[in-house]
Amino acid sequence: MVKDLSELNVQYIKGVGPQRAKLLNRLGTKTVHDLLYYLPYRYEDRRNIKPIRDITVGFLSSGIQTVSGRVIRADIKRISGRLEILELTVSDGSGFIVGKWFNQRFLKKKFTLGIDVVLSGTVKYPYRGRCFEMENPEYELIGDDTDALIHTGRLVPVYSVTEGVSSRQLRSIIYNVLKSHLNDIQDPIPQEILKRNKLIGLKSAIMGCHFPEDELDVSLLNQWQSEPQKRLIFDELFMLQSGLAILRRGRLHGKGIAFDSKGTLMERLRQTLPFRLTEEQGKALGEILNDMKSPYQMNRLLQGDVGCGKTIVAVMAMLFAVEAGYQAGIMAPTEILAEQHYINIHGMLESLGLRVCLVTSSVKKKPLDDIAKGRVNIVIGTHALIEETLRFERLGLIVIDEQHRFGVRQRAGLRRKSQEAPDVLVMTATPIPRTLAMTLYGDLDYSRIDDLPPGRKPVVTRLVMSGDKKQVYEEILKEVRQAGQVYVVYPVIEESEKTALKSAIIGQETLKKIFPSLRVSLIHGKMKPFERESIMTEFKKGKIDILVSTTVIEVGVDVPNASLMVVVHSERFGLSQLHQLRGRVGRGGKQSRCLLLAYGDLSEVARRRLDAMVKTTDGFRIAEEDLEIRGPGELFGTKQSGIPDLRIASLLRDASLLEIARKEAFAIIEEEPLLQSHLLLKSGLKRFWEGRIELFKTA
Ligand code: ADP
Ligand code: MG
Repeated sequence: MVKDLSELNVQYIKGVGPQRAKLLNRLGTKTVHDLLYYLPYRYEDRRNIKPIRDITVGFLSSGIQTVSGRVIRADIKRISGRLEILELTVSDGSGFIVGKWFNQRFLKKKFTLGIDVVLSGTVKYPYRGRCFEMENPEYELIGDDTDALIHTGRLVPVYSVTEGVSSRQLRSIIYNVLKSHLNDIQDPIPQEILKRNKLIGLKSAIMGCHFPEDELDVSLLNQWQSEPQKRLIFDELFMLQSGLAILRRGRLHGKGIAFDSKGTLMERLRQTLPFRLTEEQGKALGEILNDMKSPYQMNRLLQGDVGCGKTIVAVMAMLFAVEAGYQAGIMAPTEILAEQHYINIHGMLESLGLRVCLVTSSVKKKPLDDIAKGRVNIVIGTHALIEETLRFERLGLIVIDEQHRFGVRQRAGLRRKSQEAPDVLVMTATPIPRTLAMTLYGDLDYSRIDDLPPGRKPVVTRLVMSGDKKQVYEEILKEVRQAGQVYVVYPVIEESEKTALKSAIIGQETLKKIFPSLRVSLIHGKMKPFERESIMTEFKKGKIDILVSTTVIEVGVDVPNASLMVVVHSERFGLSQLHQLRGRVGRGGKQSRCLLLAYGDLSEVARRRLDAMVKTTDGFRIAEEDLEIRGPGELFGTKQSGIPDLRIASLLRDASLLEIARKEAFAIIEEEPLLQSHLLLKSGLKRFWEGRIELFKTA
């Protein structure tokens, strides 16, 4: 009978017990399985045992050196009231060396005279000393019950620890675990996959990660490039991608819809448009329609830089669904964007005789009954759209716009809402690196719009320091004189939303005083929706010259005649936020401009962000720059997305293994979605995704 190592509590491991088990739990290691996967974060090279005669110091010494010899003295010397030194003299026949430990009296009894030891550490030649010394060396006793060196004389693993457990103790514990349980480890990854990708077996991988073989290069290990490490990195990425593959199939959770539509409504809309779809818009729409016609649920990501025209593509897809007899919904991250979509889409579709309505938390009289009875064709809203209270008669397609915070978990939830799973189209302008896309959106198919509508001119961006604020006023006046319109955006200041609002209100008053003849209005998130709506409508109609705003207009708002964006306190904004804001202008044929007004001494990071904005308008370049400035750190926000934490793999470092893992995972799930003949893999997957997303419905 094989033991399930993830059921085996660490408490019962040799040398652990209840006290230490508590400490181990703090490291997140509760079971034998956890300990086996608790990998060292670095390795030290303590292999080369030198004759003491060959020890070097200073420039010639190479970091840590290792010697082996017999204990010939062990003394405790009291230096002062508080300081005691244990001095251990060791000889190997070629010379003597002294090991020194401070205030560790208890060690003395380990070093009986005549016993053999190995010492590893940095060597010093002491002032007035007679021989070399090591301070606090790592030590190991070679006695009857040592069957291998684990702390010295080899490539030594170093673990991150918590108070009460030392790296040395953890090393011993893990060694014991390996000794008694290595043979109980079962490999969940199918043999063919390992063979095809030249990956080593799981047992040797786990052993090799903790106690690497002697001939390995230590720098290879420290860069996570050794074969044992690669194998475990692969496993983690494979588990991740297999889960995403299962979610992507979505077919396990009820059937999708095969929309049957002639495309007449789409054609009628097309004839009313003042423009033709670009090639890339057409291609993306084609991919979307193919998915919609298939009997499987669509889960597709549509990516394209700000202003490339994603909305119209989504509207076409919604018309396709409506003509097939279904309802469609579009979900936006903010009320203001939902309201904008509503005005836009309502305007476009009214003449087609369709009923479009808005559902956000501030809409008082929601047409809930009409939606439930199928009398509304298209619903536009915020999160309210997926709340339990909202019932559709026949929801066929849901479009999620600009929703960075709508993760894998939420999408999986959506899938379960109805028996007949609606198709899902996610749209984003946030350009992210490919490895990240494969993960955060790894459960989705992918379309991309790479061109912009014809005639667009890149927005010219300039940094203006607060001392030159006058220039900004001059530019505003110039813009309005040339029949342009202006946004002036104030930041959300950390302290509170209220302060932000206040600064926007003051901003409006100031501008009114400076430009008594211009029409200056204010818009913000705390307004009543109908007020916001009427202001946006007036701005669109050109009845407002300057629109002062908080960051509520960051995403989605579309007024083609607006041609100047002023960002006040631009040093406080993140890079992708600035890019989004700038995307509000340059949407028509006019040459548009963006002025980044900055205050105070700029920090290094703020300076780099603003420079990047001035240098380029390319969203992907901006994203790369952002990644570089911020570092891989928390950037990904995988926590809320529902994706399990990666403990071994790194999305940045392990990009090529990620590609392989994704390919293999998607292939195996395609072949056998329920993994009936890979039960070990299936239970491994369940464990990996536990507490995040339930991959397999319990029958
Ligand atoms: P985003 O992709 O940022 O959501 P929008 O969908 O808001 O962009 O579109 C931006 C602007 O471009 C809108 O005013 C829209 O009407 C216009 N537009 C979209 N497609 C085209 C096209 N093919 N030709 C010209 N203008 C277009
Ligand atoms: Mg948009």
